[in-house]
Amino acid sequence: MAVQCPSCGGSSCEKIEQPLHIPLLLILLGGFIWGVIYGLSREPRFRCGACEHRFFARTLVSQVFSVIWYLFITLVLTGFGYAVYSFLFPTG
Ligand SMILES: [Zn+2]
Repeated sequence: MAVQCPSCGGSSCEKIEQPLHIPLLLILLGGFIWGVIYGLSREPRFRCGACEHRFFARTLVSQVFSVIWYLFITLVLTGFGYAVYSFLFPTG
């Protein structure tokens, strides 16, 4: 994986494994699958092998899942907006 250290420019960076953070509130609101998508959309953390600098970097996985995540948010907000609109201006 070609992740470069923002501090020294070295490429010997390794990913720091961290437990998948899934907010409980999100699972209750959107279901488990959306909690997982949110967790995967978070930027993974890396550690530079040369200078020990720790940093967050976007990977393809986090990029793909953040797109899915923002689509979900848009969908929810659109649905909510439509529900409010239908309530305020009922047709027929
Ligand atoms: Zn470095």
